[in-house]
Amino acid sequence: MDTTPETLIDEAQRILLICHVNPDGDAVGSLLGLGWALRKLGKQCTLACSDPVPPIYHYLPGSEMVTNQPQGTFDLIITLDCSDLRRLGEVYDSQDLVGVPIINIDHHVTNVEFGTVNWVDPTATSTAEMVLELVQRLGVPLNQTIATCLLNGIVTDTRGFRTPNTTRRAMEAAITLVDAGAPLAKITNQVFNRRPLADIRLWAEALRTVRLEGPIIWAEITPAMRRECGFTEEGDAGLASFLITANEADIAVVFNQQANGRVEVGMRSVPGVDVSAVALSFGGGGHPQAAGFGINGSLPTVREQVIAALKQAWLEQNSSS
Ligand code: 5GP
Ligand code: MN
Repeated sequence: MDTTPETLIDEAQRILLICHVNPDGDAVGSLLGLGWALRKLGKQCTLACSDPVPPIYHYLPGSEMVTNQPQGTFDLIITLDCSDLRRLGEVYDSQDLVGVPIINIDHHVTNVEFGTVNWVDPTATSTAEMVLELVQRLGVPLNQTIATCLLNGIVTDTRGFRTPNTTRRAMEAAITLVDAGAPLAKITNQVFNRRPLADIRLWAEALRTVRLEGPIIWAEITPAMRRECGFTEEGDAGLASFLITANEADIAVVFNQQANGRVEVGMRSVPGVDVSAVALSFGGGGHPQAAGFGINGSLPTVREQVIAALKQAWLEQNSSS
């Protein structure tokens, strides 16, 4: 009963590590950091993600090794930063992976515990913070490569140590990683202070659509906007995190229409307001202050449904406090 991640890793030789679709800095950093550490133990590791590593994370050592077509057979799968199996995307669809044990390492409060072993810690700022703990438990000495990948995860998920869940533990983890050679200033500069001009152009277009409805600020992104701005990614270029800085809002939402008819909905909230349950009710997931989901439908219909659900959640949360 007491199977731990360490015992499963100990017994495994060919390990497939998978992070979530549309990977963020924590997903990529945890994937690469754990991959490097397991190789130190002599394990064969394949690092997989259904979507490409975003260019801002190409500076991380090993980012070019991430594949969307894992080859061969595996005796263990480790999922990172994924709250449900669908977040693994098409890399997990292969018949060959049915029955392979899964270690599920994640910090999302909405995790549905789909693994053989589930290590889910919603008090961790990031999956990378948990991976650091695992690497230490496995007795792998830290080096600059592992430390840089893991610090990238902590820095991005705490938005530079600014989120309310930034604990002493997270700060101490960061110190450990800096001591091992991770370049904090370089990471911070890389992930927060530089962005493609296309992102800024997309903001300019999307910000025209901003509306405030009660405590909710929202904006839209359409395929036409992305085309006009030369924006080639699927995300919101950080727009939801920007919108939640509006004094007047408790909740920010970006409705991001994809070419395939889906609308990706990204939400942020101020401390004390929880948007993760609404995300879960629409089939997605996330954290109290940052959550999301994808849904089929037209932009106006989705918007109406989601704003109604968020207003309801906001009212319930405000009446109970
Ligand atoms: P973002 O708005 O940055 O895309 O996502 C914010 C948070 O919500 C992240 O923790 C992310 O993992 C989670 N999230 C976003 N979209 C989805 C989704 O479609 N499904 C699930 N399970 N979580 C999501
Ligand atoms: Mn994360």
